[in-house]
Amino acid sequence: MRERLCPVCQVELKPEVHLGVTIDICPACAGIWFDADELITLNTIDDAILPRLDLLYQPQVVSYNPPWERLCPACREPLHSYNYLYTSDIRLDSCDRCGGVWVDDGELQKMVQVLQDARAAEVPPDTQAQLTLIEAEAQHRATMANLHLWSRLFQFMRARPRIPL
Ligand SMILES: [Zn+2]
Ligand SMILES: [Zn+2]
Repeated sequence: MRERLCPVCQVELKPEVHLGVTIDICPACAGIWFDADELITLNTIDDAILPRLDLLYQPQVVSYNPPWERLCPACREPLHSYNYLYTSDIRLDSCDRCGGVWVDDGELQKMVQVLQDARAAEVPPDTQAQLTLIEAEAQHRATMANLHLWSRLFQFMRARPRIPL
């Protein structure tokens, strides 16, 4: 296997295993290369791992934009730069060919923050919808003199979508 080079510093990346997943760390800039799906896999196993990884690896050099094109450590193809979650100011670099992602030092923590903010922004309408649903259900229950009748109706409603149109 060819050595994997940091797209920023062009020094050899160091493989490190976390939760059974081998990621590649740059010993100089502390950027991390995730092969396709590794980022999601790690986050799925433990959603607190990403900010921890960010803190675990500290850069030896100040983060900078190299004058050369960032190349995929695996395929050596030019990386494609994009904004995480479209609107954030976090620039990630991914490889269209292998699906890997390069994350500069500090970006993992920012990503988690942006994701938390996005989730928090989504919570009130969701909670509201759930509350409304529970209230509607409670009202519906109250109007039903017979709980048994209500449960039969509920079963009927659940069965309905299966009836072919
Ligand atoms: Zn580097
Ligand atoms: Zn690649």
